[in-house]
Amino acid sequence: MDVNTIRLLVFVSVFMMMLVLESLIPRHSTVDSKPRRLGIHLGLSGLNTLLLKLVFGAAAVGAATTIEIKGWGLLNVLDWNNVVELFLAVVFLDLAIYFQHVIVHKVPLFWRFHVVHHSDLDLDVSSGLRFHPVEILASMFYKIGIIFLLGPAPIAVLVFEAVLNGMALFSHSNIALPMKVDHFFKKLIVTPDMHRIHHSVEVSETNSNYGFNLSIWDRVLGTYKEKALKAQPEITIGIDAFRSPNELTFYKLLMMPKKYGKLTYVT
Ligand SMILES: [Zn+2]
Ligand SMILES: [Zn+2]
Repeated sequence: MDVNTIRLLVFVSVFMMMLVLESLIPRHSTVDSKPRRLGIHLGLSGLNTLLLKLVFGAAAVGAATTIEIKGWGLLNVLDWNNVVELFLAVVFLDLAIYFQHVIVHKVPLFWRFHVVHHSDLDLDVSSGLRFHPVEILASMFYKIGIIFLLGPAPIAVLVFEAVLNGMALFSHSNIALPMKVDHFFKKLIVTPDMHRIHHSVEVSETNSNYGFNLSIWDRVLGTYKEKALKAQPEITIGIDAFRSPNELTFYKLLMMPKKYGKLTYVT
């Protein structure tokens, strides 16, 4: 079985598991239609996967292979023990993705694309796939840049991408973890309750909890919010500018950066 088949199998199993858990132990009631959103998000994910393949191929792992051969990048120069390097590479890549997330919130042009992710009226496993194609392509450019500087082994990039994909499904899922379990996991990793605060309509909450895998960056860098103004099941999810499902069709999501630009710059 090749690596891509394994990745697809892991993805499908985690996705299905989260869907089942969401129906058994939901944390938050829904506003929009779940099947409708699922269709849109799978459509976006399909389009994004296709574009990534067309533009980059297996770029991130490919970049890591190239620089390993050439001996470029910090970790290739240092040439430490493989296990230590794998650990450092995964942790550092996660920090780089944390900074990327802060940047797409702070730079208005990037926010126009990231707003597509935040415009979701509900949060569940499929929200983890809701990204504008331009944001997906731009983040691949960013990731390749980081890989050139860092020089992680191809296996580290593979592990990181697999973990990141799985974690995105988990942290967006609408599942109620027992309080104690949530508290325990939250010390190290991003849980659904932690990421839900990031999707709150309250701006101060949207601009917090940027982490994707590890929750430590938010704590260390002062962007962590333990609690939202409202209790978890009552948090209003989404963006002020888009409150109706009619404005959130597949086509309108693709056009959203243009519309959002007009909304913010005209006023
Ligand atoms: Zn965000
Ligand atoms: Zn999110």
